[in-house]
Amino acid sequence: MDFVEQLKSSVDIIKTIGEYVRLKRVGGTPRYMGLCPFHSEKTASFSVHSGHQFYKCFGCGAGGDVLKFVMEIERISFFEALKLLAERNGMQMPKREYSDPDSKLRAALLEMHEIAARVFQSNLKGPAGAEARNYLAGRQISSEYIAEFELGLSDASGQQLTRQFQSRFSPDQLDQSGLIMKRQEGGGYYDRFRGRLMFPIHNESGKVIAFGGRALRAGDEPKYLNSPETALYRKSYVLYNLHRAKDAVRKADCSVLVEGYMDVIGVYSAGIHNVVASCGTALTSTQVRALKRHSERIVVNFDPDAAGANAAERSIQMLLDENMQVRVLELEGDLDPDEYVHQLGAETYRNKLEQASAYFHWLADRARKKFDMRAVEGRIQALKFVTPAIQRISDRLERFAVANDVASYLGVDDKLVREHFNQRSADRPAPPQKPAAPLEERLLLKALLASDDARMQVIPQLQGIQALEPYTTKNILKALFSMHQDGAAFRFADLEGRLADADRDLLSAVIFADDRVEEDKAVQVATDCLRRLKAVSPQSELTALRAQIKAAERAGNIQEAMRLSALITQFDEHRKQSRRPVGDVVH
Ligand SMILES: [Zn+2]
Repeated sequence: MDFVEQLKSSVDIIKTIGEYVRLKRVGGTPRYMGLCPFHSEKTASFSVHSGHQFYKCFGCGAGGDVLKFVMEIERISFFEALKLLAERNGMQMPKREYSDPDSKLRAALLEMHEIAARVFQSNLKGPAGAEARNYLAGRQISSEYIAEFELGLSDASGQQLTRQFQSRFSPDQLDQSGLIMKRQEGGGYYDRFRGRLMFPIHNESGKVIAFGGRALRAGDEPKYLNSPETALYRKSYVLYNLHRAKDAVRKADCSVLVEGYMDVIGVYSAGIHNVVASCGTALTSTQVRALKRHSERIVVNFDPDAAGANAAERSIQMLLDENMQVRVLELEGDLDPDEYVHQLGAETYRNKLEQASAYFHWLADRARKKFDMRAVEGRIQALKFVTPAIQRISDRLERFAVANDVASYLGVDDKLVREHFNQRSADRPAPPQKPAAPLEERLLLKALLASDDARMQVIPQLQGIQALEPYTTKNILKALFSMHQDGAAFRFADLEGRLADADRDLLSAVIFADDRVEEDKAVQVATDCLRRLKAVSPQSELTALRAQIKAAERAGNIQEAMRLSALITQFDEHRKQSRRPVGDVVH
């Protein structure tokens, strides 16, 4: 067995995908369902089959084995996915150079970031780190959290990383690292980050892929300097702290979104570990989906200043568009989350968090402050203020429920609400359900996939049966037959590999259809199907047999011709019996 097969057979696809997507088992079946991480959806159409070690989304068509999943979700190459899974499962990868240049570059960049993180951390602990340590003490960040968040300090000289990297990495790798800059004049390189407090940014598997650097001295601009986009780092995909937070997000079934690195660390130190930040940009749909894979509920806690409120507004829209259940936490006293935790204590913050109001109530509260709610006119204005947000809810029933709820919260008459929300409908049509194959075909295919015995006993008799021709699953069966003929051990992935896209989709649809065939019943089920198939068209069966006999004779295979002729005799016997005149039947 080569390494790829070895890895795939020892890695549990449910466990691996389960780290990215919340999966629920369907009854006692080998099927698991969850919300697709590759497209936006409200009801789960993403399925994973533990028996066949295979996933499929019936919404967007994504599908494949565990390696494909890791490649797609981490956006990495095949070899990187292999390496990642091997590392996670304590398996030794055979020594092998990355063959494609992209993987090679990313491997080099990962190494550079790992080295940089180590160097920055040791700088912070060393004599040059006194000033930065003072700053952190002033922000009440204890050494425990400095270590946990791997905080560091970039060297002020601007040569520390450059010197270390120049001998180990190629000029092209230096250029693309985002850590080293080329001098405009005179040639040579220097470090991008100089004399800054460094926050490593990790991907979801916990590898450092970028840094945020905070200025420590007044006048150093900008206040925050972040890594540029590189082959490792795409801002719109990454959430700060998600790799640490994701378990807690699942446990609490809720995430907390704050604005900056310091807020994350402050809230985290209050014992709230399900906290993430969007690294200084407005949320993107990709980031929201990364969160949604772990929980659909979120509390947004942004800074109270105007910029914070704007960022919150944009992020909330994005969250609502992705059907997240949003609550909003506004802290009093113009404090950002980090300051709040340190001034009023972790306990107070946790209470505030629990009491955070649902987004639409929060919005209604803002409307109340804005308009004169004693006058009818004011109440209508308030309703108009919240209407656009409510109208964005795609589900009609939910939209009405929220509208009614908000109206009664604002003290607005029902009738008025109906007028407002009746006109427009933003319903999105449900995706059409793909028709799977008929039951008979599903059972046959499932039985053949379920057991070696079923394949051994039934496939030889199925081959050449004309009644299979009109089958929707004909191509899949044919592929299965030819695999059987090749005599190799059956592997689901091999079968898939022999199919065109449409048939591959069909295969998934059959596998994830509700009917089950237990392994110990598979022979029986397949034999029953075979019997029915033979009964359907004895005539075409005979034609097929005769053609086979001719072919065998032409090929000089007399033995095979004799065997087939015997089958024809049996067939005739069988037909004579079944064609007995009706009068013969004893009443
Ligand atoms: Zn999908």
